[in-house]
Amino acid sequence: MTRDIIKRYTNGEVTVIWQPSICEHSAICFRGLPAVFDPRRRPWVVLDGTPTDAIVAQVEACPSGALSIEREKPE
Ligand code: SF4
Repeated sequence: MTRDIIKRYTNGEVTVIWQPSICEHSAICFRGLPAVFDPRRRPWVVLDGTPTDAIVAQVEACPSGALSIEREKPE
């Protein structure tokens, strides 16, 4: 049952959601932002140290929709 796996990674401002079952492994995310997306690392998504705007822009470039963003609600 790998179909329903959803991984979530947060930096306190946004949460990056990754759905492995629809990822096309097109490499666009880790070519574009290797500090955040690195498939050789576990976890392969690390948000610390990268501006949220850059993370959001890269997530929006994912061609399959495997990556998406959830914004934290203001207190
Ligand atoms: S850009 Fe999207 S489809 Fe491509 S490897 Fe990254 S998560 Fe997967």
